[in-house]
Amino acid sequence: YRAKGTGTYRFFEPAMDRELKQSQRLQRDLHNAIAADAVIPHYQPLVRLKDGVVVGFEVLARWNHPMLGSISPEVFISIAEDAGLIGQLTQSILKQACVDASKWPDQIKIAVNLSPIQLKDTTLPDQILHTLKISRFPPQRLELEITETALVNDNRTANAILSRFRAMGIDIALDDFGTGYSSLQNLRMFPVTKLKIDKSFVRSMSLDANSKKLISGILALSRSLGITTTAEGIEEAAEAEYLRSIGCDFGQGYCYAKPMKADDVPRFLTVQVPA
Ligand code: C2E
Ligand code: CA
Ligand code: CA
Ligand code: CA
Repeated sequence: YRAKGTGTYRFFEPAMDRELKQSQRLQRDLHNAIAADAVIPHYQPLVRLKDGVVVGFEVLARWNHPMLGSISPEVFISIAEDAGLIGQLTQSILKQACVDASKWPDQIKIAVNLSPIQLKDTTLPDQILHTLKISRFPPQRLELEITETALVNDNRTANAILSRFRAMGIDIALDDFGTGYSSLQNLRMFPVTKLKIDKSFVRSMSLDANSKKLISGILALSRSLGITTTAEGIEEAAEAEYLRSIGCDFGQGYCYAKPMKADDVPRFLTVQVPA
Protein backbone atom coordinates (compact mmCIF):
# COMPACT_ATOMS: atom_id res chain seq x y z
CA TYR A 1 0.00 0.00 0.00
CA ARG A 2 2.72 2.34 0.96
CA ALA A 3 4.49 1.80 -2.35
CA LYS A 4 1.31 2.62 -4.19
CA GLY A 5 0.73 5.74 -2.09
CA THR A 6 4.28 6.87 -2.61
CA GLY A 7 3.93 6.26 -6.31
CA THR A 8 0.84 8.40 -6.43
CA TYR A 9 2.54 11.10 -4.45
CA ARG A 10 5.56 11.07 -6.71
CA PHE A 11 3.30 11.15 -9.72
CA PHE A 12 1.52 14.28 -8.56
CA GLU A 13 4.45 16.17 -7.12
CA PRO A 14 6.05 17.31 -10.39
CA ALA A 15 2.65 18.27 -11.78
CA MET A 16 1.84 20.42 -8.75
CA ASP A 17 5.29 21.89 -8.98
CA ARG A 18 4.80 22.79 -12.60
CA GLU A 19 1.44 24.36 -11.86
CA LEU A 20 2.86 26.36 -8.99
CA LYS A 21 5.77 27.54 -11.10
CA GLN A 22 3.49 28.40 -13.93
CA SER A 23 1.28 30.42 -11.64
CA GLN A 24 4.31 32.23 -10.20
CA ARG A 25 5.44 32.84 -13.74
CA LEU A 26 1.98 34.13 -14.64
CA GLN A 27 1.93 36.36 -11.57
CA ARG A 28 5.28 37.81 -12.57
CA ASP A 29 4.20 38.28 -16.19
CA LEU A 30 0.96 39.92 -15.07
CA HIS A 31 2.85 42.20 -12.70
CA ASN A 32 5.12 43.33 -15.56
CA ALA A 33 2.20 43.71 -17.96
CA ILE A 34 0.29 45.91 -15.50
CA ALA A 35 3.38 48.05 -14.85
CA ALA A 36 3.77 48.54 -18.61
CA ASP A 37 0.05 49.33 -19.11
CA ALA A 38 -0.05 46.25 -21.35
CA VAL A 39 -3.30 45.05 -19.79
CA ILE A 40 -5.55 47.30 -21.79
CA PRO A 41 -9.18 48.44 -21.65
CA HIS A 42 -11.74 47.47 -24.24
CA TYR A 43 -15.11 49.22 -24.38
CA GLN A 44 -18.67 47.94 -24.68
CA PRO A 45 -21.48 50.45 -25.34
CA LEU A 46 -24.23 51.18 -22.81
CA VAL A 47 -27.35 52.12 -24.75
CA ARG A 48 -30.45 54.05 -23.62
CA LEU A 49 -33.27 51.75 -24.66
CA LYS A 50 -35.99 54.33 -25.29
CA ASP A 51 -34.05 56.05 -28.12
CA GLY A 52 -31.00 53.89 -28.83
CA VAL A 53 -28.52 56.61 -27.81
CA VAL A 54 -25.11 55.47 -26.51
CA VAL A 55 -24.64 57.01 -23.07
CA GLY A 56 -21.38 55.36 -22.09
CA PHE A 57 -19.10 52.35 -22.23
CA GLU A 58 -18.24 49.58 -19.79
CA VAL A 59 -14.48 49.22 -19.47
CA LEU A 60 -13.37 45.58 -19.78
CA ALA A 61 -9.75 44.56 -19.24
CA ARG A 62 -7.87 42.55 -21.87
CA TRP A 63 -4.51 40.79 -21.56
CA ASN A 64 -2.74 39.32 -24.53
CA HIS A 65 0.09 37.20 -23.07
CA PRO A 66 3.13 37.10 -25.40
CA MET A 67 3.40 33.28 -25.20
CA LEU A 68 -0.05 32.10 -24.13
CA GLY A 69 -2.18 34.49 -26.17
CA SER A 70 -5.34 36.11 -24.94
CA ILE A 71 -6.19 35.14 -21.34
CA SER A 72 -9.75 35.45 -20.05
CA PRO A 73 -10.32 38.35 -17.64
CA GLU A 74 -11.98 35.95 -15.18
CA VAL A 75 -8.60 34.14 -15.01
CA PHE A 76 -6.19 37.07 -14.81
CA ILE A 77 -8.42 39.11 -12.49
CA SER A 78 -8.33 36.24 -10.01
CA ILE A 79 -4.54 35.93 -10.39
CA ALA A 80 -4.28 39.68 -9.76
CA GLU A 81 -6.45 39.35 -6.64
CA ASP A 82 -4.33 36.47 -5.27
CA ALA A 83 -1.06 38.22 -6.07
CA GLY A 84 -2.07 41.53 -4.48
CA LEU A 85 -2.01 43.23 -7.90
CA ILE A 86 -5.68 44.15 -8.24
CA GLY A 87 -5.23 47.71 -6.94
CA GLN A 88 -2.50 48.41 -9.50
CA LEU A 89 -4.52 46.77 -12.27
CA THR A 90 -7.57 48.93 -11.51
CA GLN A 91 -5.47 52.11 -11.46
CA SER A 92 -3.79 51.24 -14.75
CA ILE A 93 -7.10 50.45 -16.45
CA LEU A 94 -8.75 53.60 -15.03
CA LYS A 95 -5.83 55.78 -16.12
CA GLN A 96 -5.90 54.40 -19.67
CA ALA A 97 -9.70 54.70 -19.85
CA CYS A 98 -9.52 58.37 -18.77
CA VAL A 99 -7.00 59.08 -21.53
CA ASP A 100 -9.18 57.31 -24.10
CA ALA A 101 -12.50 58.81 -23.00
CA SER A 102 -11.06 62.34 -22.87
CA LYS A 103 -11.11 62.18 -26.69
CA TRP A 104 -14.82 61.30 -26.78
CA PRO A 105 -17.86 63.58 -26.34
CA ASP A 106 -18.30 64.93 -22.79
CA GLN A 107 -21.61 63.22 -22.15
CA ILE A 108 -20.12 59.74 -22.71
CA LYS A 109 -19.49 58.04 -19.37
CA ILE A 110 -17.16 55.19 -18.51
CA ALA A 111 -18.03 52.31 -16.16
CA VAL A 112 -15.07 50.65 -14.45
CA ASN A 113 -15.29 47.32 -12.60
CA LEU A 114 -13.99 47.01 -9.05
CA SER A 115 -13.00 43.72 -7.48
CA PRO A 116 -14.89 42.83 -4.27
CA ILE A 117 -11.68 42.79 -2.23
CA GLN A 118 -11.04 46.43 -3.11
CA LEU A 119 -14.03 47.46 -1.03
CA LYS A 120 -12.05 46.54 2.10
CA ASP A 121 -9.40 49.14 1.32
CA THR A 122 -10.33 52.51 2.82
CA THR A 123 -7.61 54.27 0.79
CA LEU A 124 -9.43 53.32 -2.45
CA PRO A 125 -11.47 56.56 -2.86
CA ASP A 126 -8.32 58.70 -2.54
CA GLN A 127 -6.45 56.49 -5.01
CA ILE A 128 -9.26 56.82 -7.55
CA LEU A 129 -9.55 60.56 -6.94
CA HIS A 130 -5.81 60.94 -7.48
CA THR A 131 -5.94 59.11 -10.82
CA LEU A 132 -8.92 61.22 -11.93
CA LYS A 133 -7.07 64.41 -10.98
CA ILE A 134 -3.86 63.64 -12.84
CA SER A 135 -5.98 62.60 -15.84
CA ARG A 136 -8.14 65.76 -15.50
CA PHE A 137 -11.17 63.53 -15.79
CA PRO A 138 -14.44 64.66 -14.12
CA PRO A 139 -15.69 62.20 -11.47
CA GLN A 140 -19.22 62.79 -12.82
CA ARG A 141 -18.20 60.89 -15.96
CA LEU A 142 -17.15 57.83 -13.95
CA GLU A 143 -19.34 54.98 -12.80
CA LEU A 144 -18.00 52.14 -10.66
CA GLU A 145 -19.42 48.62 -10.93
CA ILE A 146 -19.37 46.44 -7.85
CA THR A 147 -20.76 42.97 -7.26
CA GLU A 148 -22.88 42.01 -4.30
CA THR A 149 -20.20 39.70 -2.88
CA ALA A 150 -18.27 42.88 -2.06
CA LEU A 151 -20.98 43.92 0.36
CA VAL A 152 -21.57 40.84 2.48
CA ASN A 153 -18.43 40.54 4.61
CA ASP A 154 -17.41 43.92 5.91
CA ASN A 155 -20.42 46.01 5.09
CA ARG A 156 -19.51 48.99 7.28
CA THR A 157 -16.23 49.57 5.46
CA ALA A 158 -17.84 48.98 2.06
CA ASN A 159 -20.61 51.43 2.91
CA ALA A 160 -18.14 54.11 4.02
CA ILE A 161 -16.13 53.69 0.81
CA LEU A 162 -19.22 53.84 -1.41
CA SER A 163 -20.54 56.91 0.41
CA ARG A 164 -17.28 58.70 -0.31
CA PHE A 165 -17.55 57.84 -3.99
CA ARG A 166 -21.09 59.21 -4.03
CA ALA A 167 -19.91 62.41 -2.35
CA MET A 168 -17.31 62.76 -5.12
CA GLY A 169 -20.11 62.56 -7.72
CA ILE A 170 -19.25 59.03 -8.88
CA ASP A 171 -22.17 56.72 -9.67
CA ILE A 172 -22.31 53.19 -8.25
CA ALA A 173 -23.79 50.28 -10.19
CA LEU A 174 -24.61 46.98 -8.52
CA ASP A 175 -23.37 44.41 -11.05
CA ASP A 176 -24.65 40.88 -11.76
CA PHE A 177 -27.81 41.74 -9.83
CA GLY A 178 -29.91 38.73 -8.90
CA THR A 179 -27.06 36.26 -8.60
CA GLY A 180 -26.20 37.17 -4.99
CA TYR A 181 -28.28 36.11 -2.01
CA SER A 182 -28.99 39.35 -0.20
CA SER A 183 -29.91 41.60 -3.10
CA LEU A 184 -32.88 43.42 -1.59
CA GLN A 185 -31.07 44.19 1.62
CA ASN A 186 -28.09 45.54 -0.32
CA LEU A 187 -30.23 47.92 -2.32
CA ARG A 188 -31.67 49.38 0.85
CA MET A 189 -28.40 49.59 2.78
CA PHE A 190 -25.88 50.82 0.22
CA PRO A 191 -25.79 54.08 -1.77
CA VAL A 192 -26.31 52.38 -5.12
CA THR A 193 -27.50 54.53 -8.06
CA LYS A 194 -27.99 51.83 -10.66
CA LEU A 195 -28.41 48.12 -10.96
CA LYS A 196 -27.33 45.79 -13.70
CA ILE A 197 -29.54 42.77 -14.26
CA ASP A 198 -27.28 39.77 -14.73
CA LYS A 199 -27.03 38.42 -18.26
CA SER A 200 -28.21 34.97 -17.16
CA PHE A 201 -31.76 36.36 -16.67
CA VAL A 202 -31.73 38.12 -20.02
CA ARG A 203 -30.33 35.03 -21.75
CA SER A 204 -33.09 32.79 -20.35
CA MET A 205 -35.89 35.36 -20.79
CA SER A 206 -37.31 33.98 -24.05
CA LEU A 207 -37.30 30.38 -22.80
CA ASP A 208 -38.46 30.85 -19.29
CA ALA A 209 -41.50 32.81 -18.08
CA ASN A 210 -40.06 33.01 -14.57
CA SER A 211 -37.06 35.00 -15.79
CA LYS A 212 -39.46 37.49 -17.36
CA LYS A 213 -41.39 37.82 -14.11
CA LEU A 214 -38.18 38.22 -12.18
CA ILE A 215 -37.00 41.01 -14.50
CA SER A 216 -40.35 42.80 -14.18
CA GLY A 217 -40.06 42.50 -10.41
CA ILE A 218 -36.52 43.92 -10.41
CA LEU A 219 -37.69 46.85 -12.57
CA ALA A 220 -40.59 47.62 -10.22
CA LEU A 221 -38.25 47.46 -7.26
CA SER A 222 -35.64 49.79 -8.75
CA ARG A 223 -38.32 52.25 -9.83
CA SER A 224 -39.65 52.38 -6.28
CA LEU A 225 -36.13 53.06 -5.00
CA GLY A 226 -35.49 55.70 -7.67
CA ILE A 227 -32.52 53.94 -9.27
CA THR A 228 -31.95 53.13 -12.94
CA THR A 229 -31.60 49.68 -14.48
CA THR A 230 -29.31 48.22 -17.14
CA ALA A 231 -29.92 44.81 -18.68
CA GLU A 232 -26.71 43.07 -19.77
CA GLY A 233 -26.21 40.25 -22.27
CA ILE A 234 -28.79 41.49 -24.81
CA GLU A 235 -28.04 39.53 -27.98
CA GLU A 236 -31.29 39.90 -29.98
CA ALA A 237 -33.15 43.03 -31.11
CA ALA A 238 -36.39 41.44 -29.87
CA GLU A 239 -34.93 41.20 -26.36
CA ALA A 240 -34.01 44.89 -26.44
CA GLU A 241 -37.51 45.79 -27.63
CA TYR A 242 -39.17 43.72 -24.92
CA LEU A 243 -36.97 45.19 -22.19
CA ARG A 244 -37.67 48.71 -23.46
CA SER A 245 -41.42 48.01 -23.45
CA ILE A 246 -41.37 46.99 -19.78
CA GLY A 247 -39.42 50.12 -18.79
CA CYS A 248 -35.80 48.99 -18.49
CA ASP A 249 -33.60 52.10 -18.87
CA PHE A 250 -30.37 50.88 -20.45
CA GLY A 251 -29.07 47.86 -22.34
CA GLN A 252 -25.73 46.27 -23.11
CA GLY A 253 -24.81 43.25 -25.21
CA TYR A 254 -23.61 41.77 -28.49
CA CYS A 255 -26.83 43.07 -30.11
CA TYR A 256 -25.22 46.53 -30.04
CA ALA A 257 -21.52 45.65 -30.06
CA LYS A 258 -18.93 43.37 -28.53
CA PRO A 259 -16.27 45.07 -26.42
CA MET A 260 -14.05 47.05 -28.83
CA LYS A 261 -10.66 48.73 -28.90
CA ALA A 262 -10.50 52.43 -27.97
CA ASP A 263 -9.58 53.29 -31.57
CA ASP A 264 -12.89 51.87 -32.79
CA VAL A 265 -15.08 53.92 -30.42
CA PRO A 266 -15.20 57.25 -32.34
CA ARG A 267 -16.33 55.53 -35.53
CA PHE A 268 -18.88 53.49 -33.58
CA LEU A 269 -20.29 56.72 -32.12
CA THR A 270 -20.65 58.38 -35.53
CA VAL A 271 -22.33 55.45 -37.29
CA GLN A 272 -24.67 54.93 -34.32
CA VAL A 273 -28.04 56.20 -35.53
CA PRO A 274 -30.58 56.92 -32.80
CA ALA A 275 -33.75 54.85 -33.24
P1 C2E B 1 -18.97 41.60 -16.09
O1 C2E B 1 -18.54 42.81 -15.31
O2 C2E B 1 -20.28 41.00 -15.75
O3 C2E B 1 -18.86 42.01 -17.62
C1 C2E B 1 -19.78 41.60 -18.61
C2 C2E B 1 -19.24 40.42 -19.37
O4 C2E B 1 -20.26 39.97 -20.27
C3 C2E B 1 -18.03 40.76 -20.25
O5 C2E B 1 -17.19 39.60 -20.29
C4 C2E B 1 -18.67 40.99 -21.60
O6 C2E B 1 -17.79 40.80 -22.69
C5 C2E B 1 -19.74 39.92 -21.58
N1 C2E B 1 -20.86 40.22 -22.50
C6 C2E B 1 -21.25 41.42 -22.95
N2 C2E B 1 -22.31 41.33 -23.77
C7 C2E B 1 -22.63 40.02 -23.84
C8 C2E B 1 -23.65 39.29 -24.55
O7 C2E B 1 -24.48 39.84 -25.28
N3 C2E B 1 -23.67 37.95 -24.38
C9 C2E B 1 -22.77 37.31 -23.59
N4 C2E B 1 -22.87 35.98 -23.47
N5 C2E B 1 -21.77 37.97 -22.90
C10 C2E B 1 -21.72 39.31 -23.03
P2 C2E B 1 -15.60 39.73 -20.14
O8 C2E B 1 -15.09 40.94 -20.84
O9 C2E B 1 -15.05 38.39 -20.51
O10 C2E B 1 -15.40 39.96 -18.59
C11 C2E B 1 -15.72 38.96 -17.67
C12 C2E B 1 -15.68 39.47 -16.25
O11 C2E B 1 -14.33 39.81 -15.88
C13 C2E B 1 -16.49 40.75 -16.04
O12 C2E B 1 -17.85 40.43 -15.91
C14 C2E B 1 -15.85 41.27 -14.78
O13 C2E B 1 -16.39 40.62 -13.66
C15 C2E B 1 -14.40 40.86 -14.95
N6 C2E B 1 -13.62 42.02 -15.43
C16 C2E B 1 -13.36 42.43 -16.71
N7 C2E B 1 -12.59 43.53 -16.71
C17 C2E B 1 -12.36 43.86 -15.41
C18 C2E B 1 -11.62 44.90 -14.74
O14 C2E B 1 -11.02 45.81 -15.35
N8 C2E B 1 -11.61 44.85 -13.36
C19 C2E B 1 -12.27 43.90 -12.66
N9 C2E B 1 -12.20 43.92 -11.31
N10 C2E B 1 -12.97 42.91 -13.25
C20 C2E B 1 -13.03 42.89 -14.61
CA1 CA C 1 -19.39 44.77 -14.94
CA1 CA D 1 -22.19 41.96 -15.09
CA1 CA E 1 -19.74 38.83 -14.01
